[in-house]
Amino acid sequence: MYWNEPMETMPREALQRLQLERLQHTVRRVYQNVPVYRTRMQEAGVSPEDIKTLCDVRLLPFTQKSDLRDNYPYGLFAAPQEEIVRIHASSGTTGKPIVAGYTAHDVQVWAEVVARCLGCAHITRADTVQVSYGYGLFTGGLGLHYGVEKVGAKVVPTSAGNTQRQLMLMEDLGATAIACTPSYALMLAEGLRDTGFDMSRLKLKTGVFGAEPWTEAMRDEIQKLLGIKALDIYGLTETIGPGVAMECLEAQSGLHMWEDHFMFEILNPDSGEAMPDGEVGELVITTLSKEGMPTLRYRTHDLTAVIAEPCPCGRTHRRIRRLRGRTDDMLIIRGINVFPSQIESAIVGIPGIAPRYLLVVDRVDNRDTLEVQVELAPELLSDEVRRVEALQQQVSRAIEQVIGLSVKLKLMNPGSIQRSEGKSQRVVDKRKLY
Ligand SMILES: [Zn+2]
Repeated sequence: MYWNEPMETMPREALQRLQLERLQHTVRRVYQNVPVYRTRMQEAGVSPEDIKTLCDVRLLPFTQKSDLRDNYPYGLFAAPQEEIVRIHASSGTTGKPIVAGYTAHDVQVWAEVVARCLGCAHITRADTVQVSYGYGLFTGGLGLHYGVEKVGAKVVPTSAGNTQRQLMLMEDLGATAIACTPSYALMLAEGLRDTGFDMSRLKLKTGVFGAEPWTEAMRDEIQKLLGIKALDIYGLTETIGPGVAMECLEAQSGLHMWEDHFMFEILNPDSGEAMPDGEVGELVITTLSKEGMPTLRYRTHDLTAVIAEPCPCGRTHRRIRRLRGRTDDMLIIRGINVFPSQIESAIVGIPGIAPRYLLVVDRVDNRDTLEVQVELAPELLSDEVRRVEALQQQVSRAIEQVIGLSVKLKLMNPGSIQRSEGKSQRVVDKRKLY
């Protein structure tokens, strides 16, 4: 079942011709309109005319998350401000978020790629889709929302949270599909099981789950508890949001990347060399149709591999494997990107606190938990109980403001957090997601 059969089953030669045309157009666009890209390309000795084949993408400089941060908020926009109709944002490594801008055309393209993803899940206008991703600056809610409307299905924009109401509406409104993070789906499922809910009262058939890594074991559990097919959707704010790639119901193995809108490379994260098909490397994405904020060779830091074999569903767009981990220290907690460096930036300079911390991430009852251990400064005597209580509140608030997540804060005695140079020592992740 396709949303856009001609595009989704386009012969590869034609698809590659279209990719090249769009790549050339995108490179010209950023070269003309974005000084950062122009300077980078000049430094690399490459001009838009040098892009003659798809392989020439390798001549182009990479874009990193830090580039988005350094050019906050509008420095990488390639369209005039009056053409930007939407802003989304996600966490950066420190302080300021990274911002993405969309023209009206970008919003259309986004709806189109999400509609294709929903087609992969066999969602049609006959369906009722509960969107339980957060709505707001986060791309999940509105990203799925516009795709569901494009398909012509009924959208129920419950957003995240308020589980009891979610479940009530799911039953009363007869949702046939749900879109949310896989951990939230599991939480809903277990909530239903624990109350002895009769699942036959739900009409749910399919789930579109993404915004965080998950495992086959989680998929089995969700499918068994909810009696649905659970499918993986991929995307990131820097390239558009959810909808970059999606598993199809036919294969339920690997995610089709919409190659007419996104060109992908799988590279050795250290050398930057291309990896052979089937071997794991870093996913690097060049947007091919974005106007507001195109990205050239964006380093996602997500590890995956190409599945070279054709898919039984008949789509010609190649698949990538379910994500295999990350090349950096970014954590995804309840769908929110968290970097250890953000914690550091939040606590540094608070009197009475030493800049030493440890993050302990866990999944308890299918909900991600984040405990932050922070050391007290030696000069602060721990028997100053009232002072410590005030600090507890001040530090929690400071961290929560920066990362946008509630945390459990544990103030530790001076010297009790192990000293280490390695970044991995600042995080203990007990979740086993890869
Ligand atoms: Zn397929």
